Amino acid sequence: MATTDPFGARPARRLDSLDASRADLYGGPSVLLPPKHLMASSDNNTAMEIENARHHLDEEVSSEDGSPQFASSPVSRPAVSTTDEFALAFDIDGVLIRGGKPIPEAVDALKYINGENPYGIKVPYIFVTNGGGKTEEERCIDLSKQLDLDVSTGQFICGHTPMREMAEKYNTVLVVGGEGEKCRVVAEGYGFKDVVTPGDIIKTRHDTTPFRKLTDEEFENSRVRDFSHSNIEAIFVFADSRDWAGDQQIILDCLMSKNGWLGTRSETMDEGPPVFFSHNDVVWSTSHEHSRIGMGALRASLEAVYKAISGKDLSTIAFGKPQLGTYHFATRLLQQWRKDNHGINKPPRTVYFVGDTPDSDIRGTNEFDKISEANWYSLLVKTGVYQDGTIPRFPPKKTCNNVLDAVKFAVEREISNKDEPVDVGLDSVALRN
Ligand SMILES: [Mg+2]
Repeated sequence: MATTDPFGARPARRLDSLDASRADLYGGPSVLLPPKHLMASSDNNTAMEIENARHHLDEEVSSEDGSPQFASSPVSRPAVSTTDEFALAFDIDGVLIRGGKPIPEAVDALKYINGENPYGIKVPYIFVTNGGGKTEEERCIDLSKQLDLDVSTGQFICGHTPMREMAEKYNTVLVVGGEGEKCRVVAEGYGFKDVVTPGDIIKTRHDTTPFRKLTDEEFENSRVRDFSHSNIEAIFVFADSRDWAGDQQIILDCLMSKNGWLGTRSETMDEGPPVFFSHNDVVWSTSHEHSRIGMGALRASLEAVYKAISGKDLSTIAFGKPQLGTYHFATRLLQQWRKDNHGINKPPRTVYFVGDTPDSDIRGTNEFDKISEANWYSLLVKTGVYQDGTIPRFPPKKTCNNVLDAVKFAVEREISNKDEPVDVGLDSVALRN
């Protein structure tokens, strides 16, 4: 049970907030690099964890009743060659899925790059989404059902995937967003040792959020704590907030505290823990005809409210696209995926990135292209955030009507670059069908 003073002040312990430099929110030419630990080379254990998760998924898929339709490869045709020259990376919302349902051309697009094309080519691919709020395994199972093919966690990155690399750095963390307890489960799965949710704080002190009452289920799952014994060392927004007012109140309480000790107030208003957002998309594409506001909007709101109350600028960090760390992460994932599943040991010459959001997908791809050894080629589709007839602030290399047109363009561009269209540059790699 709660103590009489669950938010009691404790001697402040100053935290290193050097990582909390402000990421570029509203545009401009630069894309900031993430903290150094996100630039880790492949010798960290993330690749191994992803591989382990992939095996778990494989086991889960194969053991599910009535789901053999996606337990096997969608293409069982022989005599298909896998290209080692180029690869594809897909955003999901607005490209393959919209409002929880596949975009009409999505299934055909994936069949196309799995060998059902005039050239007999199979193209390795990964998924890079800013979305989140579920474990990678859960999301891949959803995606497998939606797209009617096997999607492995070994080819999947979501907004909060890189946050797993911060589990060692922080002990007690506040995790915000998503449905129910899902983000706590994700964070604990990443190895975070002591995960606090807004529900825990509200259950401990119900007057924390005057207009928000926990549902019976939330109350049941939330944990009363004695916050005089542990301070919040970092705040992670894993997924979209379901209650902006309540979540912002709680985040602000942490930010304005002395080093994350709830119940305290900093005199200088610059002693709060760092805040990390899993991405910075201000809008995203759903079944509604107009884009809906997302996590980037919450971030803008939080920064504005903090400024209004404290008079200080708030420094926050966003992961996900367009941050270059996400593209480094994607490069490592693609390298391992091509090696493990296609026996390819060399880097691709070109990676085509298919996205619907100029400010994240296209901007990040174009920026990463400047520093990457591989060519990163941005393809913008018209089925999501981008509206045909408008001028994107970050223009793509090519705009296509939909994802099927985009993959056809990529394959045909590669073919047209060859002297001998089919054989040159296409290694005959045995398929694992
Ligand atoms: Mg999108």
